[in-house]
Amino acid sequence: MNSSEIGQADVVVVGAGNAALCAALGARDEGASPIVLETAPEPERGGNTFFVAGSTRWVYNNLDEVREVLDLSEEEMRTVDFGTYTREDYFEDMGRVTQYRCDPDLTEILVDNARPTLVWMKGKGIRFEPMYKGQSQKVDGRVKFFGGQICNFWGGGPELTAGLFRAVEKAGIPVLYETTAIALIYEKGRVNGVVVESGGERGEIRSRAVVLACGGFESSAEMRARYLGPGYELAKVRGTQHNNGAGIRMALEIGAMSAGHWSGAHAVGWDRNAPAFGDREVGDGFQKHSYIFSIMVNARGERFVDEGADFRNFTYAKYGHVVQQQPGMFAWQVFDRKVEHLLRDEYRIRRVTRAVADSLGELAGKMEGVDPKGFLATVAEYNQAVRQDVPFSPVIKDGRGTVGLRIPKSNWANTIDTPPFQAYAVTCGVTFTFGGVKISPGTSVQNVGGRDIPGLYAAGEMIGGLFYFNYPSGSGLVAGAVFGRRAGASAARHALGRS
Ligand SMILES: Cc1cc2nc3c(=O)[nH]c(=O)nc-3n(C[C@H](O)[C@H](O)[C@H](O)COP(=O)(O)OP(=O)(O)OC[C@H]3O[C@@H](n4cnc5c(N)ncnc54)[C@H](O)[C@@H]3O)c2cc1C
Repeated sequence: MNSSEIGQADVVVVGAGNAALCAALGARDEGASPIVLETAPEPERGGNTFFVAGSTRWVYNNLDEVREVLDLSEEEMRTVDFGTYTREDYFEDMGRVTQYRCDPDLTEILVDNARPTLVWMKGKGIRFEPMYKGQSQKVDGRVKFFGGQICNFWGGGPELTAGLFRAVEKAGIPVLYETTAIALIYEKGRVNGVVVESGGERGEIRSRAVVLACGGFESSAEMRARYLGPGYELAKVRGTQHNNGAGIRMALEIGAMSAGHWSGAHAVGWDRNAPAFGDREVGDGFQKHSYIFSIMVNARGERFVDEGADFRNFTYAKYGHVVQQQPGMFAWQVFDRKVEHLLRDEYRIRRVTRAVADSLGELAGKMEGVDPKGFLATVAEYNQAVRQDVPFSPVIKDGRGTVGLRIPKSNWANTIDTPPFQAYAVTCGVTFTFGGVKISPGTSVQNVGGRDIPGLYAAGEMIGGLFYFNYPSGSGLVAGAVFGRRAGASAARHALGRS
């Protein structure tokens, strides 16, 4: 089917990632006939959603609530300590990492609807699994989770994407590939569809409501430099090349209010030699998230951040920015044999920028771009400063820090003295941008006067107001699903004259 055969729909959904496909399914549940427009060709479908590891964060107060999402065996129920993650915990994590700027209304909707929305997705055929790797450790014979996160979308981004498209197909919702929304049809104060480009032709698809769920602006070098700051045009992009801020621009053009942290982005330590955009074969394998057990040094061979300030879940999304600020925009993560067994799987992929050596002097010579003298002085000073009176434990914030350093390491500090030594080179990898359009709790896009724009809804990475400075791991997918489903339902009710 192509755009000229469509002509008219109840709801047009722009984008075909997690938020958009949840919007389409949400609209269908309300009885509307949605269609989905995707700029990418079919083999590149799924947007950033395809690239995710799949971790997700939601409130659970007891094992029964865990089991609403996760199918557990008898043995898992007996031997695994999932702990609890309360409503208050989620609020506190969102508040703390965003410096208490997250929009309270949107945050409340996210926190209260995360688990029910995942249960809804499960009903659509999406599967989940306990996230043992990286989030749990065996303690006294029991597997214990830490960091408030216990769950993954089964099979990561590729399976989540496949599952969502299966559900959309089953619901009879058409998806038009290589169909790019370029403008909103805005007449008499309401949105009546979109202008699209497809196969070199321009056309109109008219609808009673439009849901924009077509991602942020992380794929545009020009917009990264303009909004995130100088140098960001040189950063790597972890996911799709298709999120160029089109949805945000279209909405702003008809008077939408901008919201959120426009100069902020989720950005991580990412292999220094990774390609400019995500690689669908490697997925998120270019990330290097075991830095909490390392020291990170820059071109001067100096440490520049507290690697052990908090669990990885609460620092990884802001440390890409810290790496971006270093001379040459790179850093090396350095480990010795004592912590080698704690390195995550992504350290063992084939396409990795690694140096290995039997002495620190040899390692210093192999770490491209690093001043060897500076590095050796840093390690010597650091080794002296590590507290030996506090036991090391990777499953708690162990308080095994350093004493007297200008930049402390607060937890998980170990001397670097046992060969072989390993170092991994990272640069800044941008995941998604935090700035976007302002939506109401019902997901209507609001105009600069603070009023809903009739017929226009938004969800996913292109809404502003949820994340500032940082991000608690596993919140993106579930936020996209919560607000996507809600936007689809609101748009359907509007289209069918029920709002
Ligand atoms: C490497 C990586 C790992 C991640 N890991 C996790 C994780 O483990 N857990 C988690 O919660 N989050 C994770 N995230 C974040 C997560 O990807 C996002 O929060 C979520 O997938 C965003 O969904 P979305 O639907 O808003 O955007 P997307 O999935 O990016 O979808 C946007 C879609 O819009 C399309 N589009 C863009 N412009 C147009 C246009 N003009 N017309 C038509 N279509 C258009 C794009 O092609 C794309 O398909 C990760 C992201 C990356 C990149």
